Amino acid sequence: MQCLNCGGQVEWAGGGQQARCTRCSSLFNQHNGQLTPAAGGAPAGYGAQPAGYGAPAPGYGAPPGHGAPPGGYGAPPGGYGGPQPQHDVGAGTFDMGDGHQLRVKINGMTPENFVKNKATSMVLGWIVGAVVIGLIVVGAVGVGLYVSTQSGNATTPAAAAKAAEAASWDGKSTFTCGGNDVVALAGVTATAGVKAGGNCQLTLTSVSITAPVAIDASANAKITMTGGSVTASTNAVVASANAKVDFVGTAVNGKVKKSGNAKVTGAD
Ligand SMILES: [Zn+2]
Repeated sequence: MQCLNCGGQVEWAGGGQQARCTRCSSLFNQHNGQLTPAAGGAPAGYGAQPAGYGAPAPGYGAPPGHGAPPGGYGAPPGGYGGPQPQHDVGAGTFDMGDGHQLRVKINGMTPENFVKNKATSMVLGWIVGAVVIGLIVVGAVGVGLYVSTQSGNATTPAAAAKAAEAASWDGKSTFTCGGNDVVALAGVTATAGVKAGGNCQLTLTSVSITAPVAIDASANAKITMTGGSVTASTNAVVASANAKVDFVGTAVNGKVKKSGNAKVTGAD
């Protein structure tokens, strides 16, 4: 028998089951006259203990992989080798395994608090965004109402309400306005008059009024009537103080009564 590695002479052990090269110390197993390399190589001091050589420890010369029982070799999952490193990313601590902890801070906060703070900011951002969008929507709706009902005359809720009242006036009861109302009445055949006071600016278009007193204007009211007709048994117009009533193409039947600095035009 010769060493498979160097061709050197081998010496036998283990009742001829094991061989060792005398030149390079390679170890072999002998089986049916064939040498196969033994795993592990020559243990230190092997040759110095010939007595022990002939009595190999159980398992010596086993096929490659000896000493590694299938399964269970190595670290069992969990708990092996003592406490696992404690990593708490949220708290910003990383156990480095030797008693040292790595602490991480973001903007002076632990990552957990940083994330929370970030989330709070995002939520606040969403809320603010929603409110802003809500205001924009409300504003757009308001503008839409304003444009459709006011034709650009007023912007306050009171004005909008007055405009709605004017739009729904059926002429069966006296329509009144005052304050800073800016109102337009159109296409109504009325059996009751209109009464304007304060600083009301009232526009009547294609309105026909048949009533004891058709138009009453006082204070600083200004009434402009275009087309239509006025038929009154008592007074077509009663104007007082600084009121001003202008008729444009309106058929006025009835007496005009003025007082103070009131002015009435177009009634003749
Ligand atoms: Zn050899």
